[in-house]
Amino acid sequence: MERIEELEAEANAVYGNHRGTVGGRTVGENEVRDILRTSPDEAVRREAWEASKTVGREVEGTIRELARLRNRLAREAGYPDHYHRSLDLQEMPVAELEDLMSDLEAATEAPFRQLKERLDQNLREKFGVETVGPWLLSDPFFQEPPEDGSLNTDRFFEGKDLEALTRETYDALGLDVRGVVAKSDLYARPGKNQHAFCLSVGRDYPYDVRVLANLRAGRPDAYWMNTMLHEFGHAVYDRHINPKLPYLLRGVSHIATTEAIALMMGSLAEDPGWLGTVAGVPVEDLSEKLVARRREDLLVFTRWALVVFRFEKELYADPDRDDLNDVWWDLVEKLQGVSRPPGRDEPDWAAKIHVATAPVYYHNYVLGNLIAAQLRDYLETHITHGPFYENEVAGRYLLESFFGPGARENWRDTVLRATGEPLDPRHFVASLK
Ligand SMILES: [Zn+2]
Repeated sequence: MERIEELEAEANAVYGNHRGTVGGRTVGENEVRDILRTSPDEAVRREAWEASKTVGREVEGTIRELARLRNRLAREAGYPDHYHRSLDLQEMPVAELEDLMSDLEAATEAPFRQLKERLDQNLREKFGVETVGPWLLSDPFFQEPPEDGSLNTDRFFEGKDLEALTRETYDALGLDVRGVVAKSDLYARPGKNQHAFCLSVGRDYPYDVRVLANLRAGRPDAYWMNTMLHEFGHAVYDRHINPKLPYLLRGVSHIATTEAIALMMGSLAEDPGWLGTVAGVPVEDLSEKLVARRREDLLVFTRWALVVFRFEKELYADPDRDDLNDVWWDLVEKLQGVSRPPGRDEPDWAAKIHVATAPVYYHNYVLGNLIAAQLRDYLETHITHGPFYENEVAGRYLLESFFGPGARENWRDTVLRATGEPLDPRHFVASLK
């Protein structure tokens, strides 16, 4: 266990400090994302995409070693491997989760294919190419769909203060985040972890909750708006766990329940209603496009999450196999419809930080999306009778029925009590139609 801690810290440091090179210039993840979102130059895009993957070679060995060690612990505890142990400890029966993920694969198959064909057609026209390389997509892993040029969600946030908008969003719900903001590290600087996360330090009340993000002063964009709302969603959950609970139960019910809140809040950054009333961005004529984009986001993200989920299963089944690069690309081709560049044999799977430091985690984003869809439906139908984000009653409801009980209940009971029914993917699947 000690060695695992060390290796995870090492991997974290590599991801934090690694910078790729584009055109002789050192670039971090913010710059790579800018290039992939906006550059019209295929050669530059390809360089940026390649640069985003170079970290994979640096950490591949560490990840394989981590997987071996995690497996050793799992086997000592009687599990076949870490994948099985981790899911069991997350109160997720393996067969049930695999059925759910397969159902979602089937439910997204046809609409995703249609969407991907349309995106490819647009990209072929836009870049004047025959084949769509992965660098023509707008992020290194195709986690989200490229934006329709006429939408450009970044412009909604021009001149806006994302920190202030985050505060105002939670104020509208009656959930104060000032204490968290004061303790947080929100702006990018050299050598800093390039991602975003929320951290609850200790379990003494008042809770010490902090967010790390990489906002760029004077350069607000949709990505960081979504991310800020997401991380502060985790933060309000952490802050409002009933402090009278026994020490060990003062935590979230489950990763999936805290991701549900974070995802529900993050998605507001593209919600026409929230943009109009809270962010003060008039988007009437873009409402339909935003709703369509939301659906595309969910489709693309679900297919990507399936890649990570299925890949990790294979990784833990045999961390020593020498064809992991192919295992990854086979999944990417099958599930995301993205072809591998000819001859590519690189550990691109290792460029995804979760594989190293948040193992067997990704399905929680999928479950989080399912719970978020169900919770928002319930809130708006039964509690607020209108948009939940402009109503303090929603905040109070979340506080009492979702956050407060903490880890006293398992995730199924939390979902049941907060939404009146067990988890039912139909709410999510309906939003894909
Ligand atoms: Zn999250």
